[in-house]
Amino acid sequence: MSFESLGLSHNIIRSVNKLGYLKPFPVQEQAVPVILQGKDLMGIAQTGSGKTACFVMPVLEKLQNAEVKKDRNVQVLILVPTRELAIQIDEVFRTFTENLKREIRTMAVYGGVSINPQMKGLFGVEVLIATPGRLLDLIDHNALSISGIKHLIIDEADKMFQLGFGEELDRLFAMMPVAKQTILFSATLNDKVAEIKERLTIDPVIIEI
Ligand code: AMP
Repeated sequence: MSFESLGLSHNIIRSVNKLGYLKPFPVQEQAVPVILQGKDLMGIAQTGSGKTACFVMPVLEKLQNAEVKKDRNVQVLILVPTRELAIQIDEVFRTFTENLKREIRTMAVYGGVSINPQMKGLFGVEVLIATPGRLLDLIDHNALSISGIKHLIIDEADKMFQLGFGEELDRLFAMMPVAKQTILFSATLNDKVAEIKERLTIDPVIIEI
């Protein structure tokens, strides 16, 4: 199985080559075609399985072909439990956005640092990686809206609940449009994760690695 056969185009493959990935990991073989088809997905996968590229590659593939107005409307929202994970995912996005058909701006926002530079930096950002608390702060400051997102990714969903982000997530879900593609990744499937899967996804493809 090659990256080409998953349905990714040459400008995404250029970044794959630059990263030195020789062939897709199993989770990528399964998840990339599903995400490209626009279906909802629930992946039970650990860190180290290659789950980040699973959503980064197909989401950028779709986004680079979409005509998007540059404004304060984020298209893709990735919710993560920690600052470290936010930064790490943004780095993967940046490697892949270097070679795309059009410029796509990405940004990571998280708490523990001043909010002002983040507010100023948000204009024109299409892919936002965020921790729940800081995202709510930014929305409360009218720095952005998530009412127009097309893709929602929740990474390490189980850890979100371990860290007590349940209420923040509820508030955020209420601000999102119903019609969107939802992708959930979690290392384990517990009751809380099963609940958001039921609430947010429509007939999701389930992948277990
Ligand atoms: P992740 O589980 O997303 O944190 O990825 C774990 C590590 O695997 C990262 O260092 C990735 O750069 C790397 N990786 C992801 N996909 C591949 C692949 N197909 N071939 C080789 N390395 C990969």
